[in-house]
Amino acid sequence: MAQITVLGANGTKAHDRETTCFALNGTHLIDAGNLLKGMGEECANIDTIWLTHSHLDHIVDIAYVLDAYFEKRKRPLRIAGLTQTLLILKKHFLNELIWPDFSRIRLLNSEMYAVEYFPIEIGKRYVIGENEHIEAFKTNHTVPSCGYVVTKMGRSIAITSDTYISYSVWDLLNSRKDINTLIIECSFHNALEALAKESKHLTPKLLAMELEKLKRAIDIYVNHIKPNSESIIIQELQAQTATQKCLLLKDGDVIDF
Ligand SMILES: [Zn+2]
Ligand SMILES: [Zn+2]
Repeated sequence: MAQITVLGANGTKAHDRETTCFALNGTHLIDAGNLLKGMGEECANIDTIWLTHSHLDHIVDIAYVLDAYFEKRKRPLRIAGLTQTLLILKKHFLNELIWPDFSRIRLLNSEMYAVEYFPIEIGKRYVIGENEHIEAFKTNHTVPSCGYVVTKMGRSIAITSDTYISYSVWDLLNSRKDINTLIIECSFHNALEALAKESKHLTPKLLAMELEKLKRAIDIYVNHIKPNSESIIIQELQAQTATQKCLLLKDGDVIDF
């Protein structure tokens, strides 16, 4: 069975909740919401973080991995993402003002720099392990953004990360029969639909409308909820997506696909 581990499943941090982070295998991850607590000493071995977009809940632990594991790291931390996403990180995050520019700091006793930026293209396949690859697809959020299809041994899972109403996501899911599982966001409860629209996130009602575009049966998991609204989102999801069961992801879950 192909697997990924959910290191962070929530739409914001709380005392016992972590933000978006998926371990695809021991060295490749999607987003960096919870690297330190999620991986511990294994942080020293991370090869690539595939970013969905530049929002803080998805990038925050990049800063602390670079700092806390600097002496232990033997190769650059590769930060992969859309060209626009990487430009935002360089200009507004690892910019010498908020945090050091680790792409100009060499690793200890090495000619290599601590960070390497890796611009990706939508729809192009990148190898992440033996019989494992990843490719980005377009999503609809307030900043440049993408989701990813992760394939292991011919079986695929799609992770949208933060998104609003979209057609490209559903065209992809309807055409790619190898995708058997979807992780999609649902950030706010229905009463906050105006805020969801403004911040380009989904509610249970909007998610139910989106799911009507899906023409085949696949497993569906929901992530990125705001923890304060958890109980009401669960109720609304059960009522609104009755025909299509959506399971809520939790920090630490392992997904078979
Ligand atoms: Zn987010
Ligand atoms: Zn976002």
